[in-house]
Amino acid sequence: MLETVRGWIGEARHIAVLTGAGMSAESGVPTFRDAQTGLWSQFNPQDLATEAAFRAHPQRVWDWYAHRREMIAAVQPNAGHVSLASFAQRHPGRLTLITQNVDGLHQLAGQSDALALHGNIAEDQWLDSPRSCCSKETIEAGRPPHCPVCGNLRRPAVVWFGESLPAAALETAEHAACHCDLMLVIGTSGEVYPAAGLAFTAHQSGARVVVINPEPTPLDVVADLCLRASAAVFLPSLLA
Ligand code: NAD
Repeated sequence: MLETVRGWIGEARHIAVLTGAGMSAESGVPTFRDAQTGLWSQFNPQDLATEAAFRAHPQRVWDWYAHRREMIAAVQPNAGHVSLASFAQRHPGRLTLITQNVDGLHQLAGQSDALALHGNIAEDQWLDSPRSCCSKETIEAGRPPHCPVCGNLRRPAVVWFGESLPAAALETAEHAACHCDLMLVIGTSGEVYPAAGLAFTAHQSGARVVVINPEPTPLDVVADLCLRASAAVFLPSLLA
């Protein structure tokens, strides 16, 4: 199977790669379902990753993100991130990397042009449209920080359930899915849309699709091959 996929990679003029939380699991970043441990086990992602949850319990949601930020700040890209970045550098213009991850590990590995469909956990933004008083210079510290004049809250710059994805990144990702010859789908449960739909788009547009995941996923139905493997172990030999 490794040789088959290597052959497809060699033949492909353009490769799209779609990654999810499993890509960073071996760096020590828990996947979404695993992240609900300890203190947070009583909440499901919908309790923590929606605008409604933030408005209802801003301190609880802010603290959960602070906890994840701290964890992510302490980890490094793994061999899977590094081998993708190295492949992209060796083959300029041949690979489009689309990620659902908000941890910045692909970027840290050298892929600054990764399409981060769900934002970046290290950054903040205003919850409501900023008014003239909402200035980055005068933000008052707190959990969450806020504008001292109108009370507008800072929130993590990630895409929550029910929110739109950044339009330009999504458009570029859709274009890549439509025009690639090969899509590698790595470490995603395939349950979060519209990102998961990119695998269907690639398949319908005639690309080969390869799923790399230790577990079965709903995207396996469009896969030409499913490799039950972990990203950090498998990608270095695949992309060498
Ligand atoms: P998910 O948690 O729903 O699924 C993770 C998938 O990764 C599972 O299918 C699992 O079998 C697979 N997996 C686990 N270990 C793996 C490994 N070593 N190699 C390959 N695959 C492995 O994650 P998702 O599909 O990305 O969707 C959930 C949402 O959670 C996304 O929107 C994402 O933005 C967000 N999220 C991001 C991070 C991150 O930035 N690292 C972490 C958790 C959640």
